[in-house]
Amino acid sequence: MLKTDVFYQGKEKTLYRTDNPDRLILEFRDEATAFEGRRTAQLSGKGAVNNQINALIMEQLQRYGLPTHFQQHQSEQASVVKALTMLPIECVIRNRATGSICRRLGVPSDQLLQPATFEMFLKNDELGDPLINRHHIATFGWASQEQVDAMIEYCHLANRTLTALFDRAGIELVDFKLEFGVYQGALLLGDEFTPDSCRLRDKASGAKLDKDLFRQGDSGVVVAYRQVAERLRQLLGPENSEPADTAD
Ligand code: UDP
Repeated sequence: MLKTDVFYQGKEKTLYRTDNPDRLILEFRDEATAFEGRRTAQLSGKGAVNNQINALIMEQLQRYGLPTHFQQHQSEQASVVKALTMLPIECVIRNRATGSICRRLGVPSDQLLQPATFEMFLKNDELGDPLINRHHIATFGWASQEQVDAMIEYCHLANRTLTALFDRAGIELVDFKLEFGVYQGALLLGDEFTPDSCRLRDKASGAKLDKDLFRQGDSGVVVAYRQVAERLRQLLGPENSEPADTAD
């Protein structure tokens, strides 16, 4: 597949058009950004490890019945994806309180959230991605109510699938963000799933294995991400993949 021009340049990823109008190439760059781009750095190896983790996770989600845009790993830092029309909504699932929910609702940090909470945010950097509900979505036409229902269902399916997967890898999935889009009328998971868009903790030591390391200025970001990739590869590498009928 031939990469042509840049379709969209994000803070850490670039989407390229290709010679197939239905396919894009998603490139994970070596950039790290936090605090709405106020803190940035080049972290050699981050793009490659994120590309690996994203491919393993997207394939696992597909195996367990969540349709995604992911097609195939293409090169060290890039994968081929279906070209979606994205919904301007960020969906967040939280299994444990940390980050913005503590600031917003005053709940204690680290509180276990049972059942897991689901939140939606408007994708708008200038407004700082405000929290929204399905009534805002209906009024302003950001998605249909059926799409909201499907996003909620898919996010919980992703949470069940990935909580179990990370648990087997000795990692707690604290929270994560997903984005969805439409392809030929169907809602698909788009964007990425990497340690940049979730919070992961080593179950034995409690150590952070995600972008909070960068937010805190730690230099061990790529080392931690590689640990996540290695543990996932041990469980999901081609010789270790499990049949889909073990899903709960
Ligand atoms: N998140 C993300 N992109 C965003 C905002 C949040 O990937 O623009 C992820 C974040 O890494 C975490 C989860 O969504 O895993 C919840 O983030 P939170 O709302 O707590 O925001 P934060 O405190 O990170 O600003």
